[in-house]
Amino acid sequence: MNRPLLILDLDETLISAVEETPAGGFDFQIPGFFVRKRPHIDRFLQGVREWFDLAIWTSGTEAYAEEVVARVFPPGAGFQFVWGRSRCVIRYDEELRRHFFLKDLKKVKRLGFDLRRVLIIDDSPEAVGRNYGNHLFLRPFRGEQDNHEFLEVLPFLEWLKDQEDFRTIEKRTWRTRLPGHCLNNDSS
Ligand SMILES: [Mg+2]
Repeated sequence: MNRPLLILDLDETLISAVEETPAGGFDFQIPGFFVRKRPHIDRFLQGVREWFDLAIWTSGTEAYAEEVVARVFPPGAGFQFVWGRSRCVIRYDEELRRHFFLKDLKKVKRLGFDLRRVLIIDDSPEAVGRNYGNHLFLRPFRGEQDNHEFLEVLPFLEWLKDQEDFRTIEKRTWRTRLPGHCLNNDSS
């Protein structure tokens, strides 16, 4: 089997970036933002790097993506791609009456990746609307330091990496899926 691809979102997934100094502190600053890294991010990245090729896709600007990636990852971290807003499609949600950025995995397929073995971790289900079969949802990270999802999800990802078609696997129940990892979270 080919090596699978894991696409990571930035805001509210890997990091939380806010404009005002956050009461709970921050890890680093980039122009205009105070940034907090999601707890256990280093352990998480160390794990997934072993099992997946990595890519970044944010609906922030390309300049923002570069700034964040430079601070979160070591130099030469070797991504398949780092994509920003210009790779997203703007859509309008009639119900919520607002625009959102859609990440259409067709663009990833065009690069030659087999979508059966592509996973995207994103806190916004709407952003991956067309490719929900490739989506793994983590709760939006807003700077809280008692968030342990990066540790909790690792056993599931280690198992998933060996599956032939990620899209046929129910991923919404990852929290209760593996023996010993029934964390009794409210996964609504
Ligand atoms: Mg996000």
